[in-house]
Amino acid sequence: MSVNSFERARSLNNKLNCFLDIFEETRAGDAGKISGMTVAVKDVLAVEGKKLTCASKILENFTSLYSATCVERLVSEGAVLVGKTNMDEFAMGSSNENSAFGPVRNPWDLARVPGGSSGGSAVAAAVGAARLALGTDTGGSIRQPAAFTGTIGMKPTYGRISRYGLTAFASSFDTVGTFSRTLEDSANALEVMAGRDPQDATSADVPVQQYSEALKRDVKGLTIGIPMEYFGEGIEPDIREAVEAARAKLERAGCKIAMLSMPHTKYSIADYYILTTAEASSNLARFDGIRYGRRAEGSHSLEETYVRSRNEGFGREVKRRIMLGTYVLSSGYYDAYYGRAQKVRRLITQDFNEAFQVCDALLTPTTPTTAFKFGQKSDPLAMYLSDIFTVSANISGTPAISVPVGLDRDHLPIGAQLMTRSFDESTMFALAKEIIVDVLAKLPSLSE
Ligand code: GLN
Repeated sequence: MSVNSFERARSLNNKLNCFLDIFEETRAGDAGKISGMTVAVKDVLAVEGKKLTCASKILENFTSLYSATCVERLVSEGAVLVGKTNMDEFAMGSSNENSAFGPVRNPWDLARVPGGSSGGSAVAAAVGAARLALGTDTGGSIRQPAAFTGTIGMKPTYGRISRYGLTAFASSFDTVGTFSRTLEDSANALEVMAGRDPQDATSADVPVQQYSEALKRDVKGLTIGIPMEYFGEGIEPDIREAVEAARAKLERAGCKIAMLSMPHTKYSIADYYILTTAEASSNLARFDGIRYGRRAEGSHSLEETYVRSRNEGFGREVKRRIMLGTYVLSSGYYDAYYGRAQKVRRLITQDFNEAFQVCDALLTPTTPTTAFKFGQKSDPLAMYLSDIFTVSANISGTPAISVPVGLDRDHLPIGAQLMTRSFDESTMFALAKEIIVDVLAKLPSLSE
């Protein structure tokens, strides 16, 4: 299996551009819980001795001095690392068009985006260039590309997996998670990675569940909430139908259905883009050509070095976010934007708490559309709206998974999203197994 993954990675990368670095194949992996499992790592996570670019020119020549905790835990249980995957620069984007090293292509249709920002990881898992791929999800960057590629995208509860070694975008939203083709691989990997890490003060000291056992659990008697705000206008009919079919499967398995409302959902995109840009503007201050990042040549003062290094090193979307974030934090606007957005965050979290008093899980579409074409969303606001169903779970820290539930009329994968109470990933896995459809069996061959 591991040889196979490396071969797939090398032979398909010209066409798909999903890897920024493919490692030398060394050994079979240590003995352990996931011995021999091949793993691709999003290039926002540190692997000791390897480049860590975040798909940005500013970090083009940066090498990690240590490995992220999640990577270390996987390797110590036998994982074999295949390489680093392409992504939107600093994890900002939904299409992979923001990579400084060219976009990743969707193996279902090379004219379409794989989703973002973890598009390279999604594609690596979809085509079998790795059995597991690590991604990060700040607003949907695992679930949306999973939906677009027919893979399983799992974002655990905020704090479930250590962020040590993850390059911060928006620290109170960032979550490490996985792409895989089977729920077993996803559950086993989470078991290995989850748990308190003294290197990350926000990692939770909550017992780790046996997620792989949950895959055998009966779901009879569980209540599934259907929030009406996630089924409004703008959803493609094929997606609506596929999620309906998933709901029917859960009913047949003995689940009860509860229709409910999460009234603050309509503020989630605005809330997300105020809070995350604020955090990003502060986190990305370290890339200045002095502390971190490529230094611009020929500057005559410190200020000029900062300005030129950042101007040359960052792409358009990253600059846009830094400017937005700086604006919402500036004196005079802080209360009106950042302060209010924090209050809205509370209200959205409250929607989830109330929903989970009447149901055990929420079922929604992952995205309003299937994979779109390159260049189709050139307006940043249109791009931001593709995250409409995923950002709320990051605002509240809720665990969420996207599983493939069918193909649309253009033969493109459809994802359904399940969300559960914090630290109850087990229920999420148990329900996911009832609705999953193995669409990857129908992935067109890429060999020609
Ligand atoms: N697409 C969203 C954004 O651009 C989510 C990114 C992410 O989850 N890293 O911010």
